[in-house]
Amino acid sequence: MIISCQCGKFQFLIKKNEIPNNGRIVKCGICNLEWLQKPHGVVEKIIRKKHYIANLFLILLLILVFVGVMITFKKEILLLNPSMNIFYDYIYQLNYQLIKNLNFFMKEVIQLISQLL
Ligand SMILES: [Zn+2]
Repeated sequence: MIISCQCGKFQFLIKKNEIPNNGRIVKCGICNLEWLQKPHGVVEKIIRKKHYIANLFLILLLILVFVGVMITFKKEILLLNPSMNIFYDYIYQLNYQLIKNLNFFMKEVIQLISQLL
């Protein structure tokens, strides 16, 4: 039987008895995509390993947007819920730590470069 990769670009000829009745995880040898292949050619579940980094990036973006909104509406939020102050304290502490680490990292990089020159 002929199975198609989820990328839509490649097809593979396999023996029908290589796919058991409850399906089998197969991998495209060209694009490395994996999916559950059912014997009759029905695709039930796509394993999206390639989208892992994209999803992570999306989550980070969502967090950034959330924090951005929280900072933009700080006055209004604090007026409605004064206990949110803890959240803002935490963000500023985190920011401070981040900038400190970044400074340290940049110093290391500059030192390394100056040693190379
Ligand atoms: Zn493929």
